[in-house]
Amino acid sequence: MIKCTLGQLAKMINVENDVMEFQNIEIAGVSFDTRLIEPGNLFVALIGDANDGHKYVDIAFEKGAAAVLWQKDVPNPPKNKPVLQVEDTLRALQDLAHSYRKQNSAKVIAITGSNGKTTTKDIVAAVFSEDYKVHKTDGNFNNHIGLPLTILAMEETTEIAILEMGMSGKGEIALLTRIAEPDAAIITNIGEAHLQDLGSREAIADAKLEIVEGLPKNGLLIYPGNEPLLVKKVSSLKQFNTCTFGETSENDIYAIDITIEENGSNFIVPGLSDEPLFLPISGKHNIMNALAAILAAKEFLISPTSIRAGLKSVKLSNMRMEWHDGIKGTRILNDAYNASPTAMRAVISMVEKLADEREKIVVLGDMLELGEKEVEFHEQIGEELNPDKIKYVFTYGPLAKHIASGARLHFPDERIFEFNDKEKLINVLNEKVEGNELILFKASRGVKLEEVVNAMLVR
Ligand code: ATP
Ligand code: MG
Repeated sequence: MIKCTLGQLAKMINVENDVMEFQNIEIAGVSFDTRLIEPGNLFVALIGDANDGHKYVDIAFEKGAAAVLWQKDVPNPPKNKPVLQVEDTLRALQDLAHSYRKQNSAKVIAITGSNGKTTTKDIVAAVFSEDYKVHKTDGNFNNHIGLPLTILAMEETTEIAILEMGMSGKGEIALLTRIAEPDAAIITNIGEAHLQDLGSREAIADAKLEIVEGLPKNGLLIYPGNEPLLVKKVSSLKQFNTCTFGETSENDIYAIDITIEENGSNFIVPGLSDEPLFLPISGKHNIMNALAAILAAKEFLISPTSIRAGLKSVKLSNMRMEWHDGIKGTRILNDAYNASPTAMRAVISMVEKLADEREKIVVLGDMLELGEKEVEFHEQIGEELNPDKIKYVFTYGPLAKHIASGARLHFPDERIFEFNDKEKLINVLNEKVEGNELILFKASRGVKLEEVVNAMLVR
């Protein structure tokens, strides 16, 4: 974590230090939440929609904060305390992170995209940890506050920092990438998440591509070669090195001989090794995430042996592709952490292709924030479900019912169940399962489909 004196910190964010008597106070780490504060931290009083950090400054000092950043336009700053006044505390936090990143020798890898950011971050971290001292975004701490805090939590000895960059609108990735100045950037994919805010997939692609605004000349951009929206735009970015991953051999990296099993995926990467690599997460979409990670690893000269070992050691965060034992001997795949059409398609296709004997049931909930075309998106998912592979389709919610309508075009009615009530869904699902099935759960986070998942687990 950042360690410096208050005087040094004031210089780093370019503010006049009018608390000279406190300038030698030692600061270790930064916090904006008094529930998480550690003695010695700098407490940044942030003004949020619902809450104002300035109200908690006294508590912060009681809990051992070494100093406080205070926004000038807020009245009554504490007197005779190490309180540094700034124009805008959020901006100061971001400036501090930028400045710390610049003085630290770590190389930075930034990851954005509509789906798969956290997964790719975890894979990149696992691979790089074989050869480097790695620091990575904790969980999903990927926004204008989480990213600066992640940078400030980095040790001075960190060699590689892996940062997730999330967004919900235009200009947000530009801000994050300018703070982080990554040496390499990965765009995982362009999907439909945030279509409601941005209007079109092209606008989403532009927003993700903002990531290059922080890249130095000759920095590396890694992106999916099968995304025409990116291919066209990237060709004009001649000042950067670029490389692609994808499903076919036109890409700089691709995978062959893929087998997908419940406990993971095997695949061969031509040019890397003739032996299959093993990734302990299923699904072709996760192989794509791994290919992006391998490109980054190659850029940093990580050996094929370390890449293989790193991939094998990947562990994911909660509710992303969790497998459980379900009632009556079923297997449950809980991927209900979030959902968009791209993500839903990816996991359904994985389940349909899974090399196992189990019959497949899908329980699909609403995909939120899709904008005007939300009904159509849900119908399409239903239309694409394969009746030869999927025994029953359960939907939950007012949007997901359009998945059921789409599926009705080619599924017999008695294999489709539509609900707006979780209890009823659980009862019918209980009745219908025999025991040899695999049940996939997928919906947007807000749907809380895990309440249904929990009812289906063996206790
Ligand atoms: P968030 O925007 O919530 O931070 P994220 O981009 O970090 O999401 P992950 O948490 O890694 O994404 O994955 C979320 C879901 O997206 C996964 O459960 C999976 O269904 C899907 N997913 C992951 N990778 C891909 C991919 N490359 N293409 C399509 N879908 C994917
Ligand atoms: Mg994430």
